[in-house]
Amino acid sequence: MAKLIDKAIPTDEEAIKYINKELDTSGVDITAIVARKLFEKGYIKDKRNFICSTEGCKAKITCRSLPAISKNSPAFVNQSYSENEHIKECQYNPDSRDKLEPTKKKNSTQFSYSKTGDTVSDLSVKKGFLGEDSPNKIAGKVESTPEEKADTHAVSRTDKNDNKNRSSKKVNQHLKTLQDHVEVYKVDPEFLIITKKGKRQIPIKFLFRSIKRNIFFDEFTASHYTYIYYGNAKLSQPENRNVIRVMFKKPIEVEGNSKKFWPALIILKEFFEIEYPDVLEAFEQGNDISFEAFITLPFFLNGEYLNFSSFNKDMLIEPFSDELYNNFYIRTKA
Ligand SMILES: [Zn+2]
Repeated sequence: MAKLIDKAIPTDEEAIKYINKELDTSGVDITAIVARKLFEKGYIKDKRNFICSTEGCKAKITCRSLPAISKNSPAFVNQSYSENEHIKECQYNPDSRDKLEPTKKKNSTQFSYSKTGDTVSDLSVKKGFLGEDSPNKIAGKVESTPEEKADTHAVSRTDKNDNKNRSSKKVNQHLKTLQDHVEVYKVDPEFLIITKKGKRQIPIKFLFRSIKRNIFFDEFTASHYTYIYYGNAKLSQPENRNVIRVMFKKPIEVEGNSKKFWPALIILKEFFEIEYPDVLEAFEQGNDISFEAFITLPFFLNGEYLNFSSFNKDMLIEPFSDELYNNFYIRTKA
């Protein structure tokens, strides 16, 4: 697990002024969550307007999922894929990561610091992920303020020092989004969760399967589980430049077909640009960029292509649908 870039410094002067004047912090480095707030207020002008927070390091940083309308939580990543811009002493320098590995091991506690109850997966058996606004139907869940909701959000990396208002009642922490699930799984595959359907705890790794084990719509409707399918993938540019293609790298055999298929999906470029600006930029600059892709949607055989179906109907998923946005996630090695 690489050292996450948990803080960065905005390069917009107005943002620096605002932080110095209005925020109760010692430095001008901020978390990605604060960055989103400053972006919404107009103090940060662009997702690429950040540099590394290490003293003397000027590595350019990009903030993924910066606008509040994004599906994923905001996160800092290196702007450049081809060049390591961090100074040697920088803790975010990829070359110094190996030394940090052992201490990262115990990090699963970061997912349980604020909870007193169980961790519930919001992955629906028939509909996959419904997005952040999906209603929580878990009985006994204590209503919380927006701040507290942000606190129990598994992958938010804000400081936790104001616990005095927290209810002492049992509060279940929810893994709401695909991103939440993937990030927890990557840190601790044994992390215990309760599925919507199940009554007992299972390790989160039980929800994950290789993409080659994905099934078609008919089989899916007859089954009682939804899984998160994963595999290495890359981008390619279809003729229509408003969209981008994500294609899994390993071919798959489909029963009744002699040829092999590479599972692929088409997604609106505008969406991809908000969530993974660094990946798109690296691709458009000609880098051979590969990443891990995660999807919960069933397969759909589209002529000679193997694509993905909606959960609602045996039909090709729309490249600009919330259903796709909520049920697809990619992860780079950082
Ligand atoms: Zn740095």
